[in-house]
Order: sequence, then C-alpha cells, then structure tokens
Amino acid sequence: MKKWEENVRKVVPYTPGEQPKEQNLIKLNTNENPYPPSPKVAQALQEMTIDCMRLYPDPSAHLLVSAIADFYGLKEEQVFVGVGSDDVLAMVFMTFFNSKKPILFPDITYSFYDVWADMLRIPYETVPLREDFTICAKDYCRENGGIIFPNPNAPTGVELPLAEIEAIIQANPDVIVVVDEAYVDFGAESALPLIEKYDNVLVVQTFSKSRGMAGMRIGYAMANPVLIKYLNDVKYSFNSYTMDQTTIALGKAAVEDRAYLEETVHKVVETREWTKRELSRLGFVFGDSKANFIFAAHKTCPAAELFAALRKANIIVRYFNKPRIDNYLRITIGTQKEMEAFVAFVEKYLSER
Ligand code: PMP
Repeated sequence: MKKWEENVRKVVPYTPGEQPKEQNLIKLNTNENPYPPSPKVAQALQEMTIDCMRLYPDPSAHLLVSAIADFYGLKEEQVFVGVGSDDVLAMVFMTFFNSKKPILFPDITYSFYDVWADMLRIPYETVPLREDFTICAKDYCRENGGIIFPNPNAPTGVELPLAEIEAIIQANPDVIVVVDEAYVDFGAESALPLIEKYDNVLVVQTFSKSRGMAGMRIGYAMANPVLIKYLNDVKYSFNSYTMDQTTIALGKAAVEDRAYLEETVHKVVETREWTKRELSRLGFVFGDSKANFIFAAHKTCPAAELFAALRKANIIVRYFNKPRIDNYLRITIGTQKEMEAFVAFVEKYLSER
C-alpha cells in the first residue's frame, strides 16, 4: 500500500440493482413504477427553454418545496428536498446522527443505511426482525444515537402499524427518529401526522416509486421547521445547487396531479393483490406486502435457482445473497401484463422441474 493510501477514506459502496442495456426485458428488480409520470410532467418538459440553462437553479427549489407543502397541507418550512431520497437520507445521516452512541436500524432493511453509517463513521447496531419479518418496537426502546427504518420495510414490504411507530418515538425523545416512507403510497399508513406532535420525527418520501420518476431523482423530508433548518444548513455547507431546474419544474407538475397519482397507485395495488393470489397458488410464502414489490420464498424451489431461470427468460427480479433472506426473491410489481407473463413462466418452470 502506498503511503498516501493510509489517508484515503475507504468505503464499501452500496450496490444498486442492475439497469440492463438489453431491450425486451421484464424488469422487476428495482421497484420502479411500470407507468410513466403524469402527462402534466410531459407538458412541463415541453415548456422548458434552453436559454434558462445559463442560469443556476433556485438553490431553495422553492417551486417544488411549496408544491409539496400544498399537497400535504404543510408549511414550506416543514419541507426539505433533495436529489432522490438517497440524497435526502445521506443529509439526514450527516445532520442528525452525530452521537457516540450507536444508531439503530433493522437487520433486514434498506442496504444503504450501513453504507452511509460506515462512510460517515457513525456507530450502529442492527436490530433483528422477528421470524415473520415484523419490526419489534420494544427492541428500539433502549439507549441509542438515533433510529431509522423504512415503513413499509424494504425488502420485506411489511408495514409497522402507526401506534408502534409512535411508541418508538415516545420512548426516544432525545434522538431523531427517521421513518423512510419510500413505498408508503402503496397502502401503508404514513407517520406524517406525527411531525406535528413530536419535534424529533422526520418522514422521508420519494417521487421514484409512486410518482414513477426514479430517473428524475426527487426526494423530500418533512418535519418541524427546526429539523428542516438543520438539514438545510448542512446541505448549503455541502452543495447549494443539488436540484437542477428541469427537475424542480417537472417535480412541481407531478405533485400537482393528485388524481394521476391515485389512479396509477391503484393499478399497481390491484396487480400486487392479484400477484399475491397467484404466488400463493404456486406454493410461495410471503409477508403481506404494502409496497410495490413482494418478497417471496418458494416452498420447494430455491430462490437462487429460480432467480437464474428467470434471468435466462429475460425476467429480472432481485436476489440478495445474505443471511436470513437468501431463499427469497424481491419481485417488483410491473403492469398486469408483465405480471401475467412472470406468473406463466414460473408456473411452467415449477411444473417441469
Ligand atoms: N429508501 C428505500 C427503503 C428504498 O428502497 C429506496 C430505493 N432504492 C430509497 C430509499 C431511495 O430511493 P430514491 O433515492 O430513488 O428516492
């Protein structure tokens, strides 16, 4: 090792799901929405002019912040926006998790949490989920430097009831509790009302899933104005212009179309429930997902084998070769037609093996 390498920040990066170049794939591996964004987004894109690109974007992303605040009935000072919720969450880790005590998150959860903690040298402890993959709220009632969990959890899709989230918050008045609601629009109950009641709760959401805009990178946090100010202070100390002007304008157009959001979420949820029935019929077991994916294990066919067979048939799902979950596949909900093709392939494969 060269001498200078001693002082390099060495990290083991997060591994994003595959974004293959091939066409004609059924892509059920990264929890994207199978439906495009609102037609209002296309219209806003057409209205953009090339000349405005000379100028820096508004560092406060005011148009987007105020549209999000209107959507949820909040004040603008209660909203923070960033380049996807990954950016928002990275800022959250940097801003609020500065204790010497370990932060807590589930052992099976979004695999970026331990990456940010390691990169920022934040001590952490993982808290095992129960056997049925539910979060046990009592396990979070002990000394810690902060708490974060997704609701519904990823990659399990399992929801933690709001009363239990509130119990975690009540037991932890001295640290920040972050609820990562990337998938909440697909049927879980949001912890958003709790930001009015508790000053230490932060709810993080994204346009990547329910609004079908993963490619535009828009995430946001909602909390009381004091927390939002602390977040903005860190953001402006890092990079003032995190969001570009096209994204700000398109995000505003998306959030203003509530009817389209409801319509597409409804379609995804209907297809999810249909897929659950089919998977049960085919011998899979899974928790009751409230997200746009199902985390399922087959009673006799190993997940790794099925994953490889699906990949060969140009159907991509996600497989995590990790303790406790290495016999599960995370299957994103595509269009009804895509899910019918997925089910037909799996049924045929299982019957012929
Ligand atoms: N939180 C969870 C639980 C996720 O699964 C994801 C998606 N990878 C994110 C946050 C980040 O999503 P984005 O940065 O696209 O908003």
